[in-house]
Amino acid sequence: MARASVATSSTSVCQKTSSVPSGNCRCFAGDMARPLIILDRDGVVNHDSPLYVRSAEAWTPIDGAIEAIATMCRAGYDVVIATNQAGVAKGLIPVAELDQMHRKLEALVDAAGGQIARIYDCRHHPDHGCGCRKPQPGMLLKACLDFDQRPEAVCFVGDALTDMVAAARAGCQPVLVLTGKGQATQALAEFDPTIPVLGSLAEVPGWLARRGDATQRCPDIRTDGLRSCTPPPAPQ
Ligand SMILES: [Mg+2]
Ligand SMILES: [Zn+2]
Repeated sequence: MARASVATSSTSVCQKTSSVPSGNCRCFAGDMARPLIILDRDGVVNHDSPLYVRSAEAWTPIDGAIEAIATMCRAGYDVVIATNQAGVAKGLIPVAELDQMHRKLEALVDAAGGQIARIYDCRHHPDHGCGCRKPQPGMLLKACLDFDQRPEAVCFVGDALTDMVAAARAGCQPVLVLTGKGQATQALAEFDPTIPVLGSLAEVPGWLARRGDATQRCPDIRTDGLRSCTPPPAPQ
């Protein structure tokens, strides 16, 4: 459906800046708009590593994560990933290997009967100062724009404080999972205790269903907030 081709579904938003809509509303999808959920990758979908997940072989899903993604797809969600991958800029993760990880993720989700609609990854070095590396909200805002969703109608599931901050800056609903860095994040003094906390991604589909469909089409998508997100410079 909204999925890009295999060759392009994993895109660095910084390499693919798009113009901000000029009108007040970009809601072309009308009643056809599907709800969107954005997931962090490392520590949410797959096991994280303090030394970076550097190869497709080392990329292993957390129990129940793939099935959870498929369940959300069946429930009508477009499921996208927003992941910081500074290991690319640091020379620790070859781009081809990152692509292989994402092909592996997509294949596993496909086999479970779901589909990853898009993968947003920031490959910049933390010193780059780009607008897409979380806790900056660039990837989340881009996803909301691409999928015609108002940010406040979209949940972003992450395990790190930077994920929670990115969600808040984008105007999305943050959700913490306790996998990956989640337990340490929950223990931080800076962690907002009003943020929903779930054990793992496996619990998210049920939580969404209990919460009720928060999907709202975008009659008044927040172009002000989107405009404030300056497209980051293209990497050299
Ligand atoms: Mg993470
Ligand atoms: Zn970036």
